[in-house]
Amino acid sequence: MADGTSHQIATVAYGAPRLGHATQARSSLWAVCRCGRQAGIDPKPWICQGLARHPVEALEERLRCVCGARRVRLEVRGLAEAPASVTGGIYVFR
Ligand SMILES: [Zn+2]
Repeated sequence: MADGTSHQIATVAYGAPRLGHATQARSSLWAVCRCGRQAGIDPKPWICQGLARHPVEALEERLRCVCGARRVRLEVRGLAEAPASVTGGIYVFR
C-alpha cells in the first residue's frame, strides 16, 4: 500500500495496534474515555486520509468527548466485545 505516510513513523512499538487492524473482519474500533463513556468509532475517514498504518494511539488526540476530554483512549476489539455500558458522546474531531 502506498499511502506515503508510513515512512514517517519511526518510533512505533512493535505489535502496537494499527488503525488498519480495526477494519479487518470481526474487528471494530472503540473509544473509551476516563469518564466512563464508550463509543464505536468509524475508522473510514482516517483510512481515507492514509492513516491505516498509524498506531491507534497516535489518533487518540483527534477524539473529543462531551465531558471535555481532549484525548480519548482507542481500542481495537472483536465484534463480540461490544460494551454493555453507556455508549456515545465521543466523536472524531479531525
Ligand atoms: Zn469523557
